[in-house]
Amino acid sequence: MTEKIRAEKTRAGVTGWPVAHSRSPLVHGHWLKKHGIDGSYEKIAVAPEDAVAFYGNFAASGLKGCNVTIPHKETAAAACDVLDEAAEKMGAANTLWLDEDGRLCGANTDGIGFLGNLDQMAPAWDDRHDCAIVLGAGGAARAIVWALCSRKFTSVHIFNRTFEKASEIADQFGSSVYAHSWDKLGTFLGKADLLVNTTSLGMTGKAPLDVDLADLPKEALVTDIVYVPLTTDLLKQAAERGNRTVDGMGMLLHQAVPGFEKWFGVRPEVDEELRRLVLDDLEQTS
Ligand code: NAP
Repeated sequence: MTEKIRAEKTRAGVTGWPVAHSRSPLVHGHWLKKHGIDGSYEKIAVAPEDAVAFYGNFAASGLKGCNVTIPHKETAAAACDVLDEAAEKMGAANTLWLDEDGRLCGANTDGIGFLGNLDQMAPAWDDRHDCAIVLGAGGAARAIVWALCSRKFTSVHIFNRTFEKASEIADQFGSSVYAHSWDKLGTFLGKADLLVNTTSLGMTGKAPLDVDLADLPKEALVTDIVYVPLTTDLLKQAAERGNRTVDGMGMLLHQAVPGFEKWFGVRPEVDEELRRLVLDDLEQTS
């Protein structure tokens, strides 16, 4: 019989509005069971009108910590006493915990999840770090630009339908990050070491992502953070012409690791068993 790890009954969960669709309970539930931890991970719906009070008085919830999903990431960050570098930079937190002194701490782990996925699925992917191309300029793009800057990419080029949003991110991250309008993409593809789609295009039910990869170097890594479908048309097209590709599922799984470690004291692994579990769930529900 597996020896149970001694731990007080610790409660964590995912907070947001809505939360019914969240796969986080599946991921954390898997890790709790795997490590024999007597804790819980719940879905906690926080209505928009209650968000300031909920995060502002987090200790009253009885939770050790939580994940935060839309639309509360900014409200949660504002309520924190301490933020990690990414959350500070983004003004948004997706992982909260109470430290030993009762201070509310916040992190933004989307960028860490993005890096963890590539490190695991495409080792040494960032040995070539001259030029990264980021499609999209939403919340996920901001986290990914932060992540790429942390890996010392010489230049990060953001292309977005709404140029102003790309420009805002470029202004925030400094001189190695550049904003472009979508129609300039062809001019830059030939220099790319990494191409990442962070738009919602190509997702089931959304418009297709229409990009001509003819000029992309064969050595470039292509990744898509959309994971429904798992193999997007972008990834299919890239693999067919011989580029290395990584799908977006691992980002979802890796971004959950730091929270679990903070709440339950064990650093969990992203392995094939977990990936299969979430993929099966997606197949059943989508
Ligand atoms: P967001 O903040 O709403 O940003 C959406 C982005 O997609 C914006 O750049 C937007 O351009 C672009 N876009 C949407 N519709 C478009 C269209 N018809 N034509 C051109 N551009 C369009 O969303 P997000 O939070 O960044 O998430 C983006 C995607 O990443 C979603 O599909 C989400 O599920 C996925 N995601 C995956 C993970 C993961 O763990 N794998 C994590 C986070 C997000 P405009 O600025 O011009 O509107």
